[in-house]
Amino acid sequence: MKICIFWHRRDLRFHDNAGLAAALESGLPVVPLFIYDSDILDYLPDKADARLTYIFDEVERLAAATAAAGGAFLARYGKPVNVLEALLKEFEVAAVHTNEDYEPYATRRDAEVSRLLAQHGVDFLLYKDQVIFAKDEIMTKSGTVPKVFGAYHKTYLARLTDEMLLPYGSAEAFVKANLAAPNAHEAGQRPTLESMGFERKVQYVPTADLPEEDVVRNYHHTRNTPALQNGTARISVQLRFGTLSVRQVMRQAKALNPKLLAEISWRDFFMMLLWHFPGTATEAYDPKMRHVPYRNNEDEFRAWCEGRTGYPLVDAGMRELNATGYLPNRVRMTVAGFLVKHLFIDWRWGEQYFADKLLDYELANNVGNWQWMAGTGAVSAPWFRVYSPESQLAQVDPDMTYVKRWVPEVDTPAYPAPVVDHKFARDRAVEAIRAARIAASL
Ligand SMILES: Cc1cc2nc3c(=O)[nH]c(=O)nc-3n(C[C@H](O)[C@H](O)[C@H](O)COP(=O)(O)OP(=O)(O)OC[C@H]3O[C@@H](n4cnc5c(N)ncnc54)[C@H](O)[C@@H]3O)c2cc1C
Repeated sequence: MKICIFWHRRDLRFHDNAGLAAALESGLPVVPLFIYDSDILDYLPDKADARLTYIFDEVERLAAATAAAGGAFLARYGKPVNVLEALLKEFEVAAVHTNEDYEPYATRRDAEVSRLLAQHGVDFLLYKDQVIFAKDEIMTKSGTVPKVFGAYHKTYLARLTDEMLLPYGSAEAFVKANLAAPNAHEAGQRPTLESMGFERKVQYVPTADLPEEDVVRNYHHTRNTPALQNGTARISVQLRFGTLSVRQVMRQAKALNPKLLAEISWRDFFMMLLWHFPGTATEAYDPKMRHVPYRNNEDEFRAWCEGRTGYPLVDAGMRELNATGYLPNRVRMTVAGFLVKHLFIDWRWGEQYFADKLLDYELANNVGNWQWMAGTGAVSAPWFRVYSPESQLAQVDPDMTYVKRWVPEVDTPAYPAPVVDHKFARDRAVEAIRAARIAASL
């Protein structure tokens, strides 16, 4: 029996799923698939990883829903191209449908998969699902890649229609569909965390429901107050793994709060930039910023990681990140700015630390924001801007509610003195970067 495979990647949901809807419309029995990619899992530093646990639980949830609808969900562990090659031998596969992924690794992987499937005469069909505008759909009037967020967002708003945000009826189609049940023992073949060499680790992630309407309505007032638990939408993990669809959250934001809509469109923007400039995952976009003589002091880096810098807002943020895998955007900016300007440590050290710790870690957003803070990116804060962590504290947490939650000893002698003086550090960074930029222009 001919089947088609729907390969889930960053879209762990049946509802409002562009690629799944297309697979179901093809008329062939559909087999959903998830691949635990050994090329990615081998690099996870910790055997107890909350992100992998989240993925595993979501895959098992989808598998149970597939069984309830009379089908079988395939989950395999290995290199995607090898897993797919093995599946071509097990089943008569007519097509593989999947949603686009714009990261450098993903585009290489998909090119390899596309070659394999072409050799076997199997269609490989990709759909836009993860963003509203992808790749080169928004360019400047002169046809170049937009590098000013304001102008990009203006075009974004002008082109955004309600029709674009309509949900795909994939979940409804799924329960009525002709699903293939290829093998009665399939359930037993799905990998477990243990069989992949991992342990279970659960960290709190809000449910994959839309944020409450009040949270969205008040977002522009509350987003910069880290003491509030519900000051922001808390949807980044769900967008990262696709348990929420971006169309769903955009519909709500479009109806209730333009500021939230703008913030979500930063995600499209950074994914677009990384797709155009894949090298920026590891290198400054601005050539003049590629030879900045960062100090990279390891003791100071450790003090930053552990929340022992003597700057209360920085320390509270790093302790929250270490304890929960989450940090509100405003505090991410404070801790990142402090690392790259005050401690004058290479942004890539911080980017890597965030990659290890954040539950919502996402290459395009992480690199884009780190390069923004370091002044090295295609879009950036000016390289000479050095925010004072003390003034930031006075603005966002004046009564120290947030700080005291994470740094209870802040007002006692046990709390360390500042690791570096703000004014001294600011002048040191600005002078060193200025000299590096002059040298790079010679
Ligand atoms: C140094 C640094 C590193 C970051 N690393 C990541 C990362 O790895 N993964 C990640 O998803 N976000 C990252 N962000 C962006 C942002 O901080 C988080 O998306 C946000 O804090 C998540 O919480 P929320 O869902 O409550 O956000 P809200 O403020 O409620 O925003 C809603 C959604 O809009 C998007 N968004 C908001 N702000 C940004 C932004 N500055 N850039 C891109 N998208 C944005 C996110 O998808 C977010 O979930 C980073 C920001 C900084 C300054």
